[in-house]
Amino acid sequence: MPILPRPYPDEIVGSILLRGRRHLGLALKPFLTWVFQSRHGRSSCSFVLGPSLARVSSLCGLEPRELLVHHTVFPYIVAFLPAAQVERLERKLLLPQPRNPRSTAALAQNVLSSSPYRRYCPTCAREDQERYGETYWHRAHQLPAITLCTEHRTPLVQTSIRLAVTSSKAELSLPPPSGTAHQPAEASTAKALALLDSTARVLQKPLETVVNWCAQYQHMARVAGFVHPSGDLATGRLAEALFHYYGSEALAELQCEMNLASTQTWPALLLRPGNKQPTSVVRHVLLDAFLRSHQDDKPQHVVPRKRKYPTRDYVALDQLAATRLRSLLADVTAQGRRVTMSHLLHEIGIRSAYLHGSERFPRCHELLESFKRSDLSERQLGGREYWRRRLPSRWGLASSKRRRT
Ligand SMILES: [Zn+2]
Repeated sequence: MPILPRPYPDEIVGSILLRGRRHLGLALKPFLTWVFQSRHGRSSCSFVLGPSLARVSSLCGLEPRELLVHHTVFPYIVAFLPAAQVERLERKLLLPQPRNPRSTAALAQNVLSSSPYRRYCPTCAREDQERYGETYWHRAHQLPAITLCTEHRTPLVQTSIRLAVTSSKAELSLPPPSGTAHQPAEASTAKALALLDSTARVLQKPLETVVNWCAQYQHMARVAGFVHPSGDLATGRLAEALFHYYGSEALAELQCEMNLASTQTWPALLLRPGNKQPTSVVRHVLLDAFLRSHQDDKPQHVVPRKRKYPTRDYVALDQLAATRLRSLLADVTAQGRRVTMSHLLHEIGIRSAYLHGSERFPRCHELLESFKRSDLSERQLGGREYWRRRLPSRWGLASSKRRRT
C-alpha cells in the first residue's frame, strides 16, 4: 500500500517527497532517513533525479520506470546520448540499492548548471490548488532555457529556492497558490515559444528512439539558407546569427558562450557529422529552436564565399616589390650582411605568391637571380666565389692548387 502521495501530472520527484513529508507531518531528516532507509540518517536528497528511485516508486505506487520517465529530468538529460548508454544509465538508476549517488548528481548537472533555481507558473499553481487542494512543482517548468508555462504560455516566476536538492527549511516550500500571471513581452514571446516547443520535443522523445540529430540540423540549416554557393554549410555565419538571435547575456546564463573567432563554436560542432564531443542538452535545444524559427527566411543568410584565389594585379605588384627589393638589397650590401632569398621575399611581402609562381614576378625574379649568385646570398647558387676557389672540385672545376704541385 502506497505511503507517499500519488504523483500529479508532470510532478517532479522532489515535489512528491515534499508533499509526502507534509502529509506525514515529519521533519525533513527523519522523513528522508525513513524514505531512503538510511542507517546513518539522511538530511538531503536530489530534487530533479533522486537516488533510490525504485524505493520512492514503491512508496508512491508507481512502476519504477514510470517514475523515471514521467517525474524526473532523466528523459531530457539522455535525449542525445547513444541508446546503449541510455539503457545502462536507466538500469543503474533503477537498481534497488544504487551504488554511486555521486554519478547521479553529475548527471543532474546537465540541467542544474543552466537552471539553478525553481520556477512555477502562477496560473498552474492557482488551478492545482483548486483541483487538488495543494500546489506542486512541475517538471517542465524547471528545464533550462524555459521562461514560459508549457500549458498557459505565460511567464514563469523564478524563485530563489535552489533546484538541486532539498536539504533546508527554505527548500521545503511548495509554489504559492495565489499568484497572478503576467503577459509576456511580445518581442520575447516568439523566441521563448520556440524554446518551449524544442524542449517539449526533447522531453517527449521516447527513451529508445534514436534520432539522427545532426542530419536534422543540417537539413534545417540548408532550408534556412545557411549555405555557401559551393554547397557547403555556412556554419560560421550560422553561429554568428544564433549568437545575435539569443544575445551574449542569455547564452552566458545558460553556460552556452561561444568564441565567434573560432571555427569550433558549439553550433558548428553540432552540425558536424560524426562529432562525438559531449555537449549539454540546452545547446541542442537552442540550435533546434533557432533553426526552426528561421525556416522561412532564406535569402538573407546566403553568404557569398570569399574568393579563394583573389585576382591580383601582378604587374603592379611585381613593380612595387622590385622597388622594395632594390632598396632592401642596398641596405644589406651597406651592412655587409648575408641573407637568404626566403628572408628577402618575406620582407618585401610576396614570399608565398612568388614561391607559387615566380613567372608572375619577372622584375623581382631577375633581381633575385643575380642576388643568388652574389656574395650577399647565404646559400649561394653554385657556391660563393671564395669557396669556388677554395673547393673547386665541389662545383666540377679544375683545382688551381693541385695544378701548382
Ligand atoms: Zn501554467
